[in-house]
Amino acid sequence: MGHTRRDADVVIAGAGPTGLMLACELRLAGVDVVVVERLAERTGESRAGGMHSRSLEVLDQRGILDRFLAVGELQPVGHFSGLYLDFDESESRHPYPLMILQSAIERLLEERAGELGVRVRRSCEVQEVRQDESGVTVELGTAQGPSTLRARYLVGCDGGRSTVRKLAGIDFPGTEATMTALIGDVELPDLPEDYVWVRRCAGGDFSAIAFEPGWYRVITSEFDQVPDRDEPPTFEQLRASLVRLAGTDFGMHSPRWVSRFNDAARQAARYRDGRVLLAGDAAHIHFPAGGQGLNMGVQDAVNLGWKLASVVRGQAPESLLDSYHAERHPVAERVLHNTRAQSALVRPGPQTDALREVFGALMVFDDVNRYLRHLLTALDIRYPADGDHVLAGRRVPDADLKTPDGATRVHELLHAGRPVLLDLSGSAAVAAVARGWADRLDLVEARSEDDVWPVPALGDIPAPGALLIRPDGHVAWAAAADGAPDTSALRTALTTWCGPVRRG
Ligand SMILES: Cc1cc2nc3c(=O)[nH]c(=O)nc-3n(C[C@H](O)[C@H](O)[C@H](O)COP(=O)(O)OP(=O)(O)OC[C@H]3O[C@@H](n4cnc5c(N)ncnc54)[C@H](O)[C@@H]3O)c2cc1C
Repeated sequence: MGHTRRDADVVIAGAGPTGLMLACELRLAGVDVVVVERLAERTGESRAGGMHSRSLEVLDQRGILDRFLAVGELQPVGHFSGLYLDFDESESRHPYPLMILQSAIERLLEERAGELGVRVRRSCEVQEVRQDESGVTVELGTAQGPSTLRARYLVGCDGGRSTVRKLAGIDFPGTEATMTALIGDVELPDLPEDYVWVRRCAGGDFSAIAFEPGWYRVITSEFDQVPDRDEPPTFEQLRASLVRLAGTDFGMHSPRWVSRFNDAARQAARYRDGRVLLAGDAAHIHFPAGGQGLNMGVQDAVNLGWKLASVVRGQAPESLLDSYHAERHPVAERVLHNTRAQSALVRPGPQTDALREVFGALMVFDDVNRYLRHLLTALDIRYPADGDHVLAGRRVPDADLKTPDGATRVHELLHAGRPVLLDLSGSAAVAAVARGWADRLDLVEARSEDDVWPVPALGDIPAPGALLIRPDGHVAWAAAADGAPDTSALRTALTTWCGPVRRG
C-alpha cells in the first residue's frame, strides 16, 4: 500500500536542547519539521550548567549567540574532574565556558524555533514507528488519544532512554554505572561561608554551588551503590546522602527539583537505521563531568541538520546521511572515554587522592592543559576529509575578513546555514566552479585581515587562499594562498557535500 499523506518532511522526537537545535537547523534550510514532546511543558529543571567554546561558536555561526551571552555568565576557568583547567588561551573568540542553565538554553532555543516557524506539539509521546521505502509512520499517544504522523524521516532526540532507539532495534552497548549521584537545587542556610565547591570524603564527595542569591545546586556522589534506576529520587534521599557524606545537611530545605545520575557510559551502535536517525543523549550517555553532553547534542544537531535538509530537498543523495554516523560516532566515543577517566578520578580513597595530586601537578603544563581543554571544548575535532590542506575536515577559524561590503568574520558568513565558498585570493577559477552550484552555495570574495590563522592543536598556519565551508562550520576543501587551486578537488568536494550539479 502506498502512502500519499505526508504531515511533515521530518518528525523530531523530543524538545530537549538537541531536538530544538535540530529543528531550528532544518527549518532554517526550509524543511517542514514537527517536534513532538512527551511533556506538557518544559520542566524548568536546571540540569546542565554550561556551554563550551565550540557550542558558543556554533550559536555565533547562526547569529544567536548574543541571546545566550545576555543570560549566562562567562567563567574564568573550567575543570576536568573537579581539577581547575585554564581556558584562557583557547584558540577561539569565546575562550571561556559560559555558565547558563539548561532550562534557559531550552527556553532560548524554543523561542528561536518559534521565530523560524517550527511546530512543537507537546503532550505527544512517540509509541510506535514503522518505516518503508517512502517514509516513516510515527504513532503517538496524545492527551486527545492516539494519533499518527507521516514524514520522510524521524530523528530520535528523545534522551538517554530513547524510545525511538529501542523501536529501531539499535544496540546501546557500554559500561555499567559504578556510582550514583543525587542532585537538587535547594536553600542551604547553614553552609559555612568559607565552603568552596567540592569536598571529598570517605564514601564519595559532595559539592554546593551558588547559582542564584540564596540558592545552591547540591550534588552528592556515592560509590559502589547503584539504586534501581526506575525508583524516583527524593529530597529525603538527597538529605540522607549529604548527612552520610558531610555529617550534616547544612539546614537544606525548599527543593526546586531533585534528580539522579550516574557514570554509566553507552553509545548507540548505529546513528542511522534507514529513515530513522538518533542524536544527543538518545545516541550517547555518560558521566556529566566536564559538562559535555548537552554540547555534544547541540553539535550533533548542527552536523545532521544541513545534511538531512539537503537530502530532503533532493539535492544530495541519501548516502550523505551516512557521513553523520561516520563523523559524530567517533566524537562521542572520545567523550565517553574522557568521562570514564573523570569518573575514575573522583573515586574515594587514598590511591585516588594521590592520583589526583599527580594529575593536578601535570595540569600546570601548557601542553597538558591544551590537550584536556580540547577534549572538553571539541575545538580540535577533525572529520575525515579529502585533500592535504591542514584545514580540511577541521572547524574553520573565525578570522577577520574584509569584503567589498565592509568588515566581517568567517563565522558571520554562516548565519544563513548555507555552504560558503570563500575566495581569499580573487581566483577566477574558483568563481567559475562555484557557478555550477549557485542555487545552493554562497560565493564570498574577501581578503583575510591576518597573515596567519590560529588552529587548535596545530598553532598558527598561513591564511588560506580559498575554502569550501560546510554549513556546520567545517572545512570541506581548502587551497593555499600560493599556487593554483585544485579545482578538480573542489568540484569533487562540492559534489560530495552539496550534491551533484543539475543538468539542463
Ligand atoms: C546533573 C547534570 C549536569 C549536567 N551538566 C551538563 C553540562 O554542564 N554541560 C553539558 O553539556 N551537559 C550536561 N549534562 C547533560 C545534559 O543535561 C544532557 O546531555 C542533555 O539534556 C541532552 O539533551 P537531549 O536534548 O539530547 O536530551 P534530553 O534533554 O533528555 O531531552 C529529551 C526530550 O525527549 C522527550 N521524550 C522522551 N521520550 C519521548 C517520547 N517517546 N516521545 C516524545 N518525547 C520524548 C523528553 O521529555 C525530553 O524533553 C548534565 C546532566 C546532568 C544530569
